[in-house]
Amino acid sequence: MSELRIVKYPDPVLRKKTSPIQRVTPEIQEFITRMGETMHASHGVGLAAPQVGISLRIIVVDTGDGIQALINPQIHLSEGTQTGAEGCLSLPNLYGEVTRAERVVVRGMNEKGKKVSLSGEGLWARAMQHEIDHLDGVLFTDRVRPETMFWLTDEVDEDGEHITKATSLEEALRFFERQASLTRV
Ligand code: ZN
Repeated sequence: MSELRIVKYPDPVLRKKTSPIQRVTPEIQEFITRMGETMHASHGVGLAAPQVGISLRIIVVDTGDGIQALINPQIHLSEGTQTGAEGCLSLPNLYGEVTRAERVVVRGMNEKGKKVSLSGEGLWARAMQHEIDHLDGVLFTDRVRPETMFWLTDEVDEDGEHITKATSLEEALRFFERQASLTRV
């Protein structure tokens, strides 16, 4: 199976509210498998269907315990807060601090169409909230503390750490808008 193409900001599909899945068909199952492969190939911890151009309520998350797929996911409970750097495959190399709930309970269906209730904290909870936001057209840049935004560059320092470069939100979004207008040519 081939990987899916990841849609980048400012593609309008990222701002659309997605439609719920009525029935889990073999086509949906195949699509979910490809979403998982695409997420792994891109080294992401989560991916939402609009990020591959499909406006449906499907997400996949893998924070180290294998791929979890959720159809029509909903945050049922959230507790506490966590603040940390967050990025998005649709806004590559851009990061900034986002405050999220520390623990969430998420309900939905798995890839077999079976109702599930999942709970977790930390990175898993952050990824779930980020991906479910995508289903409502919300990006992390809508929730970020703008003064904390930075680019992760390809350059490394003497300790092998990637060098970061501070940016403003406006400057960063303009960069992606310019990229999109160039690649359309
Ligand atoms: Zn994202």
